[in-house]
Amino acid sequence: MKNKNPKCCICGNECENEWGNNPAPLPVKKNDVCCDECNANIVVWARLNPDLGFIKAFSKINISGICEELGIDRANLLKGNTSATNYKKVRDAIQEKLQKLP
Ligand SMILES: [Zn+2]
Repeated sequence: MKNKNPKCCICGNECENEWGNNPAPLPVKKNDVCCDECNANIVVWARLNPDLGFIKAFSKINISGICEELGIDRANLLKGNTSATNYKKVRDAIQEKLQKLP
């Protein structure tokens, strides 16, 4: 039996294979899966969030300012309570600012 590949719980696209990826720790329903792209761009980064690995690595950049600009609650972001879309936005903003660092 050949089922259709599952739908990604983050972007809604079809997964590249029949298993998808585990989106933990993103706040999704049990048994949800995500596509390879979201796994690489969002989930992997979000996994660093509990110990703030990514963000601390870029402590030169003012995360508060980024959150303010984007209208994202910083406390929620740091606690892992914001959406995958917001993580992506913050990540993109961080990367953008990194380019501008001396
Ligand atoms: Zn996806």
